[in-house]
Amino acid sequence: MSIDYQTMWTDLGLDLTSHDALLNVLGTAYRDIYLAQENRPETMAYFDFVMSEVHGLRIKELLDEKAAGRKIIGSYCVFVPEEMVLAANATLVGLCSGADFAMEEVEKLLPRNTCALIKSSFGFKLGKVCPYLESADMIVGENTCDGKKKAYESLRPLVDNLYVMDLPQVKSANGKALLKSEYLRFMEALQELTGVAVTTESLRSGIKTVNAKRNAIHRLSALRAADPAPISGLDALLANQVFFYDNPARFTDAVNKICDELEQRVASKSGVCPVGTPRILVSGCPQAVPNWKLPMIVENSGAIIVGEESCVGERGTRNCVDESGSTVDQLIDAIVERYFQVDCAIFTPNTDRLAHIEEMVKAYRADGVIHYGLQFCQPYLMEAIPVEKALEEKGIPCLRLETDYSMEDAGQLTTRVEAFVEQLR
Ligand code: SF4
Ligand code: SF4
Repeated sequence: MSIDYQTMWTDLGLDLTSHDALLNVLGTAYRDIYLAQENRPETMAYFDFVMSEVHGLRIKELLDEKAAGRKIIGSYCVFVPEEMVLAANATLVGLCSGADFAMEEVEKLLPRNTCALIKSSFGFKLGKVCPYLESADMIVGENTCDGKKKAYESLRPLVDNLYVMDLPQVKSANGKALLKSEYLRFMEALQELTGVAVTTESLRSGIKTVNAKRNAIHRLSALRAADPAPISGLDALLANQVFFYDNPARFTDAVNKICDELEQRVASKSGVCPVGTPRILVSGCPQAVPNWKLPMIVENSGAIIVGEESCVGERGTRNCVDESGSTVDQLIDAIVERYFQVDCAIFTPNTDRLAHIEEMVKAYRADGVIHYGLQFCQPYLMEAIPVEKALEEKGIPCLRLETDYSMEDAGQLTTRVEAFVEQLR
């Protein structure tokens, strides 16, 4: 890394020794997991570049935006509407939370039986290793699961710019009204922070930008229905992960270029694996960067992942916002309409999710489903049991896994995944 980046990281208050250690681990994992794959689409080179500069060039861009007067908003959940953030002349970045860090310090603040995702978000703060977190002018938390909403109480003293959004837990008229009032409150907070008033035009432009990004990902997803699959699950997951922090227009362009290449692959019936390779849909908890453990194990076990029913995947990206409203209020209603369909397990009941899993199995021609649950994640682990039962009743094989971010159970997971893949053959 260049000397400029070292100065940039020091100015952001990062702990350089710990940060170097994190970058080393990340670089090695990327090389061993991603670059070791065979027959990758050439256009994935863009994402290789993004990952090599994930704490470098992208942070420099964000700091340049800040210097030009733009604000940076960090988020932990797909319920934070990027459309509004863009309309208020700010940039939204996801705060990954996909690796264990500073766990001893974390467990002084959080119970041991907290999910890896929440622990990771604290570890990145306490270990001073996340330049996104340190660049953010506002960090948005949300009242989703009990773990997250209580953890934000403990995060508040650690950051000076935490904003907590309340979210409904029931898909009722009251629930929708709550979501709208919370989005209006969030828009006010954004306008106050940026000093920019949201207008019909700026909101519509924000909606168009995010819709374009989602449409590119939808195009990519649809191409994965081909047999042989034209792209690995690992690479498709990476695109879904980068969705959260790249420049939106550049990301859209890069994904569309991948799709152009994949269309040629599909037309010539070439892919990353032989025809007939067992096809798997992964469903469950989000897999944030650099959590590549499950797809690595699955794709090293002779199967191919063809879809992710996850917030880092289709639960997070499906459905676009209607762009046709002619007032700010109408556009906000359209935003509420779209986000209210997100079928996170914090909702009760959450029957839409099962229907969506079945829809995805059909659309991507999956032979089976792996339910990915993070240890101690009550909402998804609770849902996993009825989901497995319902799928098996319909003749769709399902493997229910519960894991964390460590590699300690990798051997055991591999054995179970290999047996499942054998069953699908
Ligand atoms: S799983 Fe639920 S809480 Fe987590 S990012 Fe998705 S919507 Fe938000
Ligand atoms: S929904 Fe589950 S995985 Fe997500 S933060 Fe809550 S406990 Fe963790």
